[in-house]
Amino acid sequence: MFLVAVFAAFSLAPGWRALGGGVPIAAVLVAALLLACILLGRRLKHSLALNNDLAAQAADLAQSNTLFKVELDEHRQVETALRRQKNHLEIQLKAGTCELQRAEADQRQTADILNEYQMALEASDDMVAVLDRTYTYRMANKAFLEQRRTDRAAVIGRTVADVMGDDAFHALRPHLDACFQGDSVEYEMVPENAGLGNRQMLVRYYPVRASAGRVDRVVSVIKNITALKQAEAERERVFSISLDPICIVGFDGYFKDLNTAWSEILGWSREELLSIPWISFVHPDDADEAMASAEKLMQGQTLRDFRNRYVCKDGRIRWLEWNAMPAEKEGRIYAVARDVTDQIEAQERIRLNEERLDSLLKLSQMSGVSDEKIREYALEEIVRLTRSKAGYLHLFNEDTGSLELVSWSKGVLQECRAEKMRHYPLAQAGVWADSIRLRRPVVHNDFANLPNRKGMPEGHFAIRRHMSVPVLDDGRIVAVAGVGNKAEPYDESDINQLSLFMQSMWSILKEKRARHILRKYSMEDGLTGLANRRRLDEVLACEWQRAKREQQSLALIILDIDHFKAFNDFYGHQAGDDCLRKVATRLRANIRRAGDLIARYGGEEFAVVLPNTDGRGAAEVAEAMRRSVMELNLRHKGAPRTRQVTVSAGVAMAVPGQGAETNIARLIESADKALYRAKGDGRNKVCGPDRAAAVEDRVRPYGAPGVGAAAACGNDEMRVGG
Ligand code: GH3
Ligand code: MG
Ligand code: MG
Repeated sequence: MFLVAVFAAFSLAPGWRALGGGVPIAAVLVAALLLACILLGRRLKHSLALNNDLAAQAADLAQSNTLFKVELDEHRQVETALRRQKNHLEIQLKAGTCELQRAEADQRQTADILNEYQMALEASDDMVAVLDRTYTYRMANKAFLEQRRTDRAAVIGRTVADVMGDDAFHALRPHLDACFQGDSVEYEMVPENAGLGNRQMLVRYYPVRASAGRVDRVVSVIKNITALKQAEAERERVFSISLDPICIVGFDGYFKDLNTAWSEILGWSREELLSIPWISFVHPDDADEAMASAEKLMQGQTLRDFRNRYVCKDGRIRWLEWNAMPAEKEGRIYAVARDVTDQIEAQERIRLNEERLDSLLKLSQMSGVSDEKIREYALEEIVRLTRSKAGYLHLFNEDTGSLELVSWSKGVLQECRAEKMRHYPLAQAGVWADSIRLRRPVVHNDFANLPNRKGMPEGHFAIRRHMSVPVLDDGRIVAVAGVGNKAEPYDESDINQLSLFMQSMWSILKEKRARHILRKYSMEDGLTGLANRRRLDEVLACEWQRAKREQQSLALIILDIDHFKAFNDFYGHQAGDDCLRKVATRLRANIRRAGDLIARYGGEEFAVVLPNTDGRGAAEVAEAMRRSVMELNLRHKGAPRTRQVTVSAGVAMAVPGQGAETNIARLIESADKALYRAKGDGRNKVCGPDRAAAVEDRVRPYGAPGVGAAAACGNDEMRVGG
């Protein structure tokens, strides 16, 4: 302050000098100084005050500064936060913008979709409408409006009762209420109001829930199913009219639909067929093949003409032939079958008949074999042809009422351990012999449950099915034949088959017996049992041909009882016959080879045919015969030399085709001539042809070449051994 006053005094001095010129300088200076001091004091005081103010202000400023700094810090923080916030907001804004863009896009898409739905709904032939809880229409599509012949304004915002009428509303209301309760509803109806005509409709109500879960809308879709129903009815008509089984089978193994032909053919009800897997109805033997076919179908293959057997409710078997086509997308197989059982059975019958005819033919050709073989064959064949497991044949004697077991089939012999009774009375026989008691075929397809069974002997195999037939001969039962244990029941065809076959067998046996007897009569001599003249001629002709073919010698001996007329005269014709038989038996005993034949040539004459035998061999046979007759030692008073029955023999031999002798008659004649000579030479002798005859007849004498008739005939040396 002081400095300010001094400064002010100095600053004012010049002015003072200018004013007074004559005022002393010191006073002035003092005054000035005083003034300056005053001023300075004042200024100092003022400065001090100012200084104080300044100090206060400085303190304030410092305080303000501090506050300001704090504030500044805070501002900075706020600013940082704000910046961050701003960044965040910017990010959010950007994100929001994207979101918004996306939302807009979604909204556009949704709008498009909604538009598409709307268009689809509009384009739909189904009548679609949306109702709220007050049964007021909120939406209705074009089909709805068209079907009802109305416009949107007359429907939207109006109730069902307004649009459809009270009656219709009351009819619909329970369904609508059920849907408002949350259930989907579906039913078919034929609307009565004129607008919809006489069509069949399928009505479906779908509940639409609000976010709270409450159903506040119902979508009603009404489908015109008239055409569908017609198609179904037509399909049903085709299904039901078809005599062939038609079905739709699901890939799950169940029938989905099938026509009445199924029940008619198999006997199972529609419900049974639909509720059990189809494979259960297939014959177990065909199940694997049927499953393989189903697999192929499920893989998309169409199958034609495959066959399998189905089991009917009553156990019968039916053959079905199939055409089947899969619908993979639907998981279904559409199939049409044909019952070919009759066809297969007819084929089987034809085949079986052919087989049976074949067997019968073979049987008829068996006349050359033994009766036992014929019976065995017939029995095995009948078991085979009736598809049986066992068979038997018993002879029956009507007079004594007794049965005699002839044979059992091999099947029985393998399985049955029961003791075989050969003979027993009919009264003891079980139900199997009913065919004798009833005099007709009997079939026991459920043998185990027959009421009158006597029971099986121990070790006898189990009989499930049985069939037997009586075998008749001139109205008399002569045998009973039976078969057993066919897999399927025996039927009429089996009965016919068994009867026919066994009757045929019997006829063949009978015919064979008759033929045998006839042959015996026609080829045998009734008195001696030797071959007769007819047989001799046959054999001679046959052996002549063979000898000619094979260039072998054929010998013939003719023997004649000596003085037989006298024998008859002495002892009578009866004794003569007896003598003839004895001589014949003796002569036959000398026949050793199978091909040799001895025959009664006439009255008391015999002929012996010896194939592949030379003269010496034949002479030896003749000599042996002569001797063996002598050894019989039959007394014959009328025989002048021997007083016993003797024979004379003539021997001839030829090799047909060699030389001129190609004729059986010449051979016989030659033997006859030799016999004549033996007679002429005193009888009880064996002679060959004389040399002249041999030359003349081209029949070589027996023995070595060059041995003449004289040497042979009447010569004791020729009597071999006697
Ligand atoms: P020879 O020694 O010359 O042969 O004299 P023979 O008496 O045997 O011959 P003959 O031809 O004169 O007589 C045959 C007799 O055989 C005539 C006939 O009475 C007899 N005879 C022929 N067949 C039979 C027959 O079947 N039974 C019986 N008892 N005699 C028969
Ligand atoms: Mg005679
Ligand atoms: Mg005689």
